[in-house]
Amino acid sequence: MNIYLDIDGVLLVNETHAANYADDFIQAVLEKYPDSTYWLTTHNWKGENRTKAVLAPHLKPETIELLDRIKESEWGELKTDAIDFDQDFLWFDDDLWPAELKTLEKNEALEQFVMVDLQKDPDMLQKLTQVIKSNA
Ligand SMILES: [Mg+2]
Repeated sequence: MNIYLDIDGVLLVNETHAANYADDFIQAVLEKYPDSTYWLTTHNWKGENRTKAVLAPHLKPETIELLDRIKESEWGELKTDAIDFDQDFLWFDDDLWPAELKTLEKNEALEQFVMVDLQKDPDMLQKLTQVIKSNA
């Protein structure tokens, strides 16, 4: 199972605050999928990777240490460019462009997209941590 992670609106509520349970969520993801977790965020785009710098002020030091396990991804216009549709995956994001939706539909992978809405549910990562932990 590949895991694709956005940052803004998923791990961070805004520029100054992590999402509730962001540490638990990242730790659970990397415990379960230490070798198949990828960034899918504008903070890792076109060869640049500012993910650790962006997250470091807001997460626990033990979580920051784990971030080196998360692999970089390559995408241009669409985040779906980075997704390997031959593999099972989960993609966590707070946003989905129409063209990305189309690509997911074309690949019959819409259910593998997890829409994170921290405005609606500030504790959503607590639930998703349980989902990750109970995944086969
Ligand atoms: Mg986002």
